[in-house]
Amino acid sequence: MAHMETVFSGIQPTGTLHIGNYLGAIRNWVALQDQYRCFYSIVDYHSLTVDAVEPAELPNKIFDAAVDLLACGIDPNKAVLFVQSHVPEHTELCWIFNTVAPKGELERMTQYKDKAQRHEDNINVGLFDYPVLQAADILLYKATHVPVGQDQLQHLELAREIVRKFNLKFGETFSEPQAILSQTPKILGLDGSAKMSKSLGNTVNLRDTPEEVWSKLRVAVTDPARVRRTDPGNPDICNIFSLEKVLCGQEVIDRVNRECRTAEIGCIDCKKLLLAGMLEALTPIRERALALAARPDEVHDILREGARRARAVAEHTMEEVRRRVGVRA
Ligand code: SF4
Repeated sequence: MAHMETVFSGIQPTGTLHIGNYLGAIRNWVALQDQYRCFYSIVDYHSLTVDAVEPAELPNKIFDAAVDLLACGIDPNKAVLFVQSHVPEHTELCWIFNTVAPKGELERMTQYKDKAQRHEDNINVGLFDYPVLQAADILLYKATHVPVGQDQLQHLELAREIVRKFNLKFGETFSEPQAILSQTPKILGLDGSAKMSKSLGNTVNLRDTPEEVWSKLRVAVTDPARVRRTDPGNPDICNIFSLEKVLCGQEVIDRVNRECRTAEIGCIDCKKLLLAGMLEALTPIRERALALAARPDEVHDILREGARRARAVAEHTMEEVRRRVGVRA
């Protein structure tokens, strides 16, 4: 394994995961664990930057995220799965990076500006510093590659900038990590307009029952111009079709692409085709998640062992960093 290049990626503990998480990131994580030495983290410290989760609820959210990641196919024999706060070196490296991170660059971060707008009553320093902690997450493991969506490229560029500044000031220590750009287009929520997100209530969750999935799909937004069954539709602007393109076979995709435009197929029948594709992907994940959730000790053991393995690497990096910056001889 020592010859393998290293991947780091993190996910916030928002509880049970949704199909947007799966299609946009986790499915790719599962594939990468056969090609790279992978560190996957449930980034609980990041989640504290917004008031989304009650402290008493956070342990359950972390547990549920771990269960779903394992159910999706993250294999603790291949990848290191751990909780960020179990490896305190993340915040230690973040502090050191704070001393080289350019404030002007941080002020330009689009995600910071978006979040500051959405959380006007709590624009805290952690929210501002979030990309520096992300850089520490990645570089603690000297990750060579980071799977990202287009919206994360700016943060990765900042991490690369931090590498350059750190190396210049303290000597060659880190290499600039490269992006593995997600091939999946942004997964929109069932409202058809915003990114799929728990906080917006527009998700299909990995553990939803078939009945729950259908009750959500049935009312999901389609081509708004298609008011009557006889109106031809435009699948290119319909989120149901976007989901079909990633979840259904070519035959379904071709059929909807053709029959929507001529009104041969109605939206309910079309959604039933999506339902079938979605359940084919979700059912095995849901079954594995329910079985794992009933064995919490096993899940906690996996996270404990993941933290132990992550810490061994993190501590090694920090020994070097502490020497470089002069806080250790
Ligand atoms: Fe969307 Fe399908 Fe309805 Fe066309 S038939 S508008 S693709 S739901």
